[in-house]
Amino acid sequence: MSRQQQAVEQARKAFQTGRSKELSYRIKQLKNLRRLISERQADIVDALRNDLYKSENGTQLYEMIGLEGEINLAVSRLAEWAAPRPVEKSLLTISDEVFIQPEPLGVVLIIGAWNYPWAVTLQPLIGAIAAGNAAVVKPSEVSSHTAKVMEELLSQYLDKEMYPVVTGGVPETQELLQQRFDHIFYTGNSTVGKLVMEAAARHLTPVTLELGGKSPCYIDKDCDLAIACRRITWGKYVNCGQTCIAPDYILCEPSIQDRVIDEITKCIKEFYTDDPKTCTDYGRIINQRHFKRLMGLIEGSSVVVGGSADESQCYISPTVLKDVNADSKVMQEEIFGPLLPIITVSGTGEAISFINQREKPLALYVFSSNKKVIQQMMSETSSGALLANDCLVHYTVSDLPFGGVGNSGMGCYHGKYTFDQLSHLRSCLIKKLNMEGVNQMRYPPHTAKKLQW
Ligand code: NAD
Repeated sequence: MSRQQQAVEQARKAFQTGRSKELSYRIKQLKNLRRLISERQADIVDALRNDLYKSENGTQLYEMIGLEGEINLAVSRLAEWAAPRPVEKSLLTISDEVFIQPEPLGVVLIIGAWNYPWAVTLQPLIGAIAAGNAAVVKPSEVSSHTAKVMEELLSQYLDKEMYPVVTGGVPETQELLQQRFDHIFYTGNSTVGKLVMEAAARHLTPVTLELGGKSPCYIDKDCDLAIACRRITWGKYVNCGQTCIAPDYILCEPSIQDRVIDEITKCIKEFYTDDPKTCTDYGRIINQRHFKRLMGLIEGSSVVVGGSADESQCYISPTVLKDVNADSKVMQEEIFGPLLPIITVSGTGEAISFINQREKPLALYVFSSNKKVIQQMMSETSSGALLANDCLVHYTVSDLPFGGVGNSGMGCYHGKYTFDQLSHLRSCLIKKLNMEGVNQMRYPPHTAKKLQW
């Protein structure tokens, strides 16, 4: 039996003991996970520094605080989330108990990505634990230091039979995908998302696909450009642009393009100094393969800011591309790096049709002081999320369902949404064995007299 098969079998056996049905067990596991995060912060920080050159404060801010918040929320709300949810009754069910009972699905497979490897792998795990499932955790092999530390630490802090970690790359993941799961929660690119869904279909396993794509950012000319560009610069270059909801490209009118470039240039200097390479808050590209891919994407476009690179360090400076053509290389795939193309359009209408001619994005950003422009963008486009006058921050709101639509994904999570996504919402109707007279109408023979009753 392979390592992958063993992990799944072990998780299923643990689930079948029924221990994860107890809320006290789930809360204990969640608290253990919280303890892991606070006690082993140094190991986590080290792993992320080695994988992505993330700083200690950056790790706190972009990975740990969110995880702790989600754990605290689940611990404090679990009793409420897991309780029966009464529904409205009809005349025919007035004396029955009618409710929804969330129940665990069984064994969940969680496949994580490498860009925020702790956040995107452990956040679904929090929901899986809260909902009473067993879970097989497959961290991304691309962030290899994190994968190793995650494997060591989860087995030390959690019930390792219920939540085994399987490390490895494509062959190991494919072997895992042959197994039968009760849900698969995948974070990564859309191409692999399709393979995951195909494998899941063989067992009729439901999936959550947290994918990516090109998230557009429209800057209206009626807008405080200094503030808009400050927020966009932050959203684009944090984690070196390797953020699934990073603004991928800017759409704006030609008349404001140069001011946008000036403002972004100022912000890059302010955030990352004149030499981002020496700045501890500026990251690195995850590996040489992605470094080469990104350098290739610049070809054929006009670089107006940055553009310098050092392959030995996987470093690419914050880069802005001007007057980019919609057919250029950089517009053919999700950038996922520190390159920001600007495409000029004649106004809001053309920006909307540009967006609508492409796949539905994970996030859509609009910067404007004009409520009508924001409203128009909202009503005439579709995307996983829409933000006006800011970037990324919707990720931190646990009450907002986080996820894509169309090519950017299916299903959603965060807060109670993760709990619901990884639960079966079972319909329950409990009737008493009396008041049989009420039921006469439904029993044959269906005489006219019964219908009048
Ligand atoms: P990745 O290369 O780490 O792949 C993700 C997972 O899929 C890994 O665990 C990997 O082992 C597995 N995998 C890769 N190829 C496979 C194959 N052929 N068969 C089976 N499994 C395979 O990460 P990535 O895809 O480069 O991640 C970047 C993408 O993820 C971007 O598109 C980004 O937008 C998206 N993303 C989305 C979210 C979100 O929440 N929606 C979050 C982070 C990243």
